[in-house]
Amino acid sequence: MTKKDQKENVRPPIVAVLGHVDHGKTSLLDVIRESSVASSEHGGITQHIGAYQTHNITFIDTPGHEAFAAMRARGATVADIALLVVAADDSVKPQTVESINQIKAAGVAMIVVVNKIDLPTANVDKVKKDLARNGVQVEGFGGDIPIALVSAKAKTGIKELLDLILLVSQMKELKSDPNAPFEGTVIETRIDKGKGLVATLIVNTGTLRAGTNLYESEKIIGRIRAMFDEFGLPVKDALPSRPVEILGFVQLPGVGTRLFDVPQGAVVKPPAPTKIAQVGIVSELPDWLKPVSEQEKEKLNIVLKADTAGSLEAITVAFSDRIKIVEKSVGDISEADILLARGSKAFIVGFNVKCPPAVGKLAQMEKVVYRTYTIIYELLDEMSDVVAGMKEVLTKERELGIGKIIAEFPYEKTRIAGTKVTSGRLARGDKVKIIRDDVEVGRAKIKSLRKNKDEVTKIEEGAQCGVLLDKIVDFQVNDGIIAVTTG
Ligand code: GDP
Repeated sequence: MTKKDQKENVRPPIVAVLGHVDHGKTSLLDVIRESSVASSEHGGITQHIGAYQTHNITFIDTPGHEAFAAMRARGATVADIALLVVAADDSVKPQTVESINQIKAAGVAMIVVVNKIDLPTANVDKVKKDLARNGVQVEGFGGDIPIALVSAKAKTGIKELLDLILLVSQMKELKSDPNAPFEGTVIETRIDKGKGLVATLIVNTGTLRAGTNLYESEKIIGRIRAMFDEFGLPVKDALPSRPVEILGFVQLPGVGTRLFDVPQGAVVKPPAPTKIAQVGIVSELPDWLKPVSEQEKEKLNIVLKADTAGSLEAITVAFSDRIKIVEKSVGDISEADILLARGSKAFIVGFNVKCPPAVGKLAQMEKVVYRTYTIIYELLDEMSDVVAGMKEVLTKERELGIGKIIAEFPYEKTRIAGTKVTSGRLARGDKVKIIRDDVEVGRAKIKSLRKNKDEVTKIEEGAQCGVLLDKIVDFQVNDGIIAVTTG
């Protein structure tokens, strides 16, 4: 951003790329990304964080109308400009039409990008004609929708396209106050083995900094521990239109969710999170597991349902390779899912979705088990328990983490163990052994973990926390707490 732009609160445009499959959306984003190598002092974008900023433009790096639709479903059209990519040799196809409808419904500015003009079979006039038939009149063809002719392969027309984007953006006079309260939109989420729950946000207004609390309506779902840009470099202040990868979530938001730095709406106390929102057929895990371990010893077949494409993706990435996803889709559990699950001997796992009563009845009749969750790590924890439970030999305990009790505090009718994690990690729900002079003095589960005053799900090596156990164990300062699993 130039100094003048900053002074006038002008922000870079946010651009999404839509169009039919194979028309070159990914190739186009790749060439633009490559062109940023030359223009940046960092030697090129090194990380995929779901968006990148180059030539003073923010590109959403997840092409396709599904991602766009997922955001729209949550009422968040983060893009200012949509590039409608149409291959010059293939012209308008069904997903081109779908994309046109979505861009129009979202009310964002459109630029038509005719790609693959290097091909001898390219027919730009046909593309213009077909577009006009579908309500998109481009410049010079009876309308005023800007059009760019490019070849992502031959890398021609790219600079002109970037200039056109900047021109459209200037006409839109995009402004946003960096001093306003923070508001941002989630564009991608994932679970990283090292970093934990990670989401990429685009700042809409205000400025993001480490330590900022993140609220989804009235509920706090994280506090920024660290922010990174597309170069993998730490970011101190993220200004409007800036995409940043954020660490510090205790719960992953869905793609398209708006996040704020203060609670929104009436502050109602959220109900205590129920571990399992709905349970099909049987309520206890061991019973629920029985049909699996009897039917299918090696793999766990799952039909996965979630509220957004982003959640589906995040859960899929995090699943163990012993889980086989038979089918995954966005939406509530349906009768078709039950029948599919029955046919493929699968469970249905839902995240932030419902199982309507009639579907629940069918599940019961067909003896199909389903579970729904509202908290992603609980879903993952239970799934890993399930996978562990499938193992035929459940013998040796594995240590997940070790802590040392360094203080104790009274809490309600029990005590909290002030603990320093000396290796591995401690997490909510862990089974733990209390050890004194190499002798086990008790066992319990971690009911809750607190860091400073915040409830957290996990504490890593080197950090201190308060551990509340689910039952009274006679621990003392200097005892060891060892988290174990039999999986
Ligand atoms: P997407 O599905 O829209 O993301 O399309 P891709 O970017 O994956 O491209 C689909 C195919 O078209 C790939 O084989 C690309 O190499 C090819 N392609 C993309 N852009 C061009 C282009 O400008 N010219 C030619 N000839 N081929 C292209």
